[in-house]
Amino acid sequence: MTAGEAFEDLIFYDLPRLPRPGEELKTGRFARAPGGGAVTTAVTAARLGVHVGVISALGDLTREALHAVHVDVDDLRRSGEAPALSVALSTRRDRTFVTYNGVNDRLDARLLRAVPRAVAGHVHCAFLPKRCRRWAAVVRMLRRRGRPVSWDFGWNPTLSDDRGFPDLLAAVDVVFINEAEARLYSRARSLDRAFAWWRQRCRASVVKLGSRGAVYLAGEATLRAPARRVRAVETTGAGDAFNGGYLAALVRGGDPASCLRAGNEAGARATRKAGGS
Ligand code: ADP
Repeated sequence: MTAGEAFEDLIFYDLPRLPRPGEELKTGRFARAPGGGAVTTAVTAARLGVHVGVISALGDLTREALHAVHVDVDDLRRSGEAPALSVALSTRRDRTFVTYNGVNDRLDARLLRAVPRAVAGHVHCAFLPKRCRRWAAVVRMLRRRGRPVSWDFGWNPTLSDDRGFPDLLAAVDVVFINEAEARLYSRARSLDRAFAWWRQRCRASVVKLGSRGAVYLAGEATLRAPARRVRAVETTGAGDAFNGGYLAALVRGGDPASCLRAGNEAGARATRKAGGS
């Protein structure tokens, strides 16, 4: 099961460059795609044959995408509430986003009620937790009931200010981060130092390194897996797709090496078209 934010992604991709202030760029390269970690990870895992449920606040596009791959949905959006929307401007080298958060601003409190009730073999969270200590207690309770928990916090600079963040990191089974996030939360200058920081704080962490693949860190163990060589078209959502591939292998009993391979495969596939799913 995944829990977290859903977005409708409006993606302008393959732009020759990002527009300058006051400038309008015209393009024929546009896609409207379901997005947000909870949705993209669930769709990816469902396409790989895993039975998945999602707890989120959905718009029409995200709900249709989930139904199309037979994902069970617990929609926390109430009538009249606006779904969240994200606009991505993407070149071959760079991405910028503007996001309207809509109902997602109210999601944390609703997830705090819904997630503990979830019946699932694995719980994957993809959102910014507002109160880490409370979420750490939820994670510990889920684990006591035999439900392992993974978390992808995304890029949220304020998260390190929450004193309960280390508590939450220590509670979850697997933390997913990309390279920039590995540095952001650890405040480390080098990637090696960042890796040391994550090793100390988490049972296991998986660092996604774009075209360089991914690394699994747990205790003294380090496993590296190269990415598949692809001609990437658009990388929005590749990290969430990676999570879906990794978790699909994990719930089938895969070891960390095979989970990394499955994650890299799903991540690479997601770069072949605009949108993560
Ligand atoms: P995020 O989307 O969170 O920033 P990454 O850019 O690291 O995360 O991408 C996630 C995963 O997707 C990578 O670990 C890799 O498996 C795959 N991936 C991303 N970009 C490429 C690429 N250019 N070529 C091959 N695989 C890629």
